[in-house]
Amino acid sequence: MAVARQEVFKRLLKIARYQPAGNHSAVKPCHRCVEALKNRRFCYKYRFYGIPSHRCIQMSPVPIRCTHRCVFCRRAHPEELGTKGEPPVPEKRDDPEYIVEESIKAHRQALSGYNPKAHPKVLPEMREEAMNPTHAAISLAGEPLLYPYIDDLVYEYRKRGFTTFIVSNGTLPRVLERMHTYPHQMYVSVTAPNERLYKIINQPIIKDGRKRYLEFLEIMHDIPTLTVMRFTLIKGLNDAPGYIKEYVKLIEIAEPTYVEVKGYSYVGYSQYRMKPENQPKMDEIREFARMLEAELGGYHIADEHEPSRIVLLTRLPYPIKLQANLKRDKMEERKRFLEDR
Ligand code: SF4
Repeated sequence: MAVARQEVFKRLLKIARYQPAGNHSAVKPCHRCVEALKNRRFCYKYRFYGIPSHRCIQMSPVPIRCTHRCVFCRRAHPEELGTKGEPPVPEKRDDPEYIVEESIKAHRQALSGYNPKAHPKVLPEMREEAMNPTHAAISLAGEPLLYPYIDDLVYEYRKRGFTTFIVSNGTLPRVLERMHTYPHQMYVSVTAPNERLYKIINQPIIKDGRKRYLEFLEIMHDIPTLTVMRFTLIKGLNDAPGYIKEYVKLIEIAEPTYVEVKGYSYVGYSQYRMKPENQPKMDEIREFARMLEAELGGYHIADEHEPSRIVLLTRLPYPIKLQANLKRDKMEERKRFLEDR
């Protein structure tokens, strides 16, 4: 049994090109992290919330376990790797402190080739910063709340001065309720306006997934941190104007700080299940966000980031910047200086 566990883990890491971080966690710098480092092109998290992309660790403590089998998921589902049912719980669960240390090491290792010698466009200051990450996006793959010490993991990152985001599929309300330390932003995915589409799009492997999701939204309403409902908009599947009223009802339960409307991307293993035409265009994402804004009381469109194909709505006057960017501004000056020479 122990061999099978490690086999599934290793095969997933290999297929997805993840770096292992301990016995069951994984890290993978997203392409925006590399783009920021090489070409100073930052992702929406920088634009909206001040998170520098090159200092962001994208990780998961449970990359191969999930309560869903979403059709749009970029990871390979265990069944697609030839495993029947949910992979068993790892024999040995790493403790949070160890995972944090291993994730920082794996992140450094993954970015080690991006240095000014190999890539002249990489600025030495940015390389230095990238080797000292300041943000953990606990969202790579799998359902992070399945890791039993998820709040301790957040605590360990926060202890080191990190900002933290967790993205959950919303099927573990009891875990959310019991957390002693919350991330700076707690996300829940929005992919289905109703039970019928929930079954088609999310393909839950638990019986009462939708009920649990609605409970999760209720609990999210009262947790003491910034909250986000993030849409994955799939053209021809969950983006019809007729669904707006149902989506608004969901948003009204949690009343999150932010609503992010993000377009589905035809990447990873989802390419075996979806079509390129399922990716909405930026204008279609904007139009959907405008319809939500018109129907929702108290929210307004605050910003957008076209390269990430995302529109932000909030009930705040403007999004809160979580990290200071003073050093970043100095780097912009240096970049202009280098370009003007
Ligand atoms: S909830 Fe997330 S990790 Fe799980 S199957 Fe869906 S997209 Fe993949």
